[in-house]
Amino acid sequence: MISIREQLSSVSSGALKGALNALLPLRCLCCDRRVGSDDGLCPVCWHGMAFIEKPVCHRLGTPFAYDVGEETWSPRAIASPPVFDRLRSVAFYEGSAQRLVLAFKFGGRRELARPMGKWMSNAGQEFLGPDCLIVPVPLHWGRLISRRFNQAGALAQVIAKECGGSYEPDILKRQKRTRRQVGLSAKERQKNVRSAFSVDKTRLDRLEGRHVVLIDDVITTGSTIAACTKTLLGGGAASVDILTFALADPSQSDAGGEIHP
Ligand SMILES: [Zn+2]
Repeated sequence: MISIREQLSSVSSGALKGALNALLPLRCLCCDRRVGSDDGLCPVCWHGMAFIEKPVCHRLGTPFAYDVGEETWSPRAIASPPVFDRLRSVAFYEGSAQRLVLAFKFGGRRELARPMGKWMSNAGQEFLGPDCLIVPVPLHWGRLISRRFNQAGALAQVIAKECGGSYEPDILKRQKRTRRQVGLSAKERQKNVRSAFSVDKTRLDRLEGRHVVLIDDVITTGSTIAACTKTLLGGGAASVDILTFALADPSQSDAGGEIHP
């Protein structure tokens, strides 16, 4: 659903914007408290965002407690290198970030794509650029009908616009509807997504030798991301980086080894 503010934002400027703000006060994206700026969080919700900040592991994007220099790999990445090149996320999947993801995905708050996509563009700036193919993790058509939109696609559109890359929602296909990953064991998760994805054969020439940035709202178990990456590399992509809004903390779950081959 597009808010009244969203509909009027393109025509509002100067005095009109002032009048609009008086009529429709700016609200926190997360909790609806009044705030001073557009696309912002109130101090309470800002404090509730577990932002992932540098220094981070060059491969897995997980934070280091202290600066260990550029392009350093965490012990987990060294022990078992992931199938993708780099993973970056805005925040851990808890507190305000979790509330935003749930409101966006299940609460009909589609207007959150813009601020969430902008945060993601910032988090992925080291690998985003005009040469990238921006590919969303696809939903199975059955789930697309019940949810009515692909949240990863909405974020990917914003990110492609921000970095000048090419939005490619049709290269990667989900050919079977998978069970929800949460609650399954590591082995069950891998089996669940194995051969779930394929590359559209008519678009192989677009993928050949290209740098792909794969987009999803949240990485929970990592099995889906690993399966998508393998499919894209198998289809001819030169490299795959991952950009998500939220990252489930591996220390809080058994997701640790899941993003590995
Ligand atoms: Zn708030």
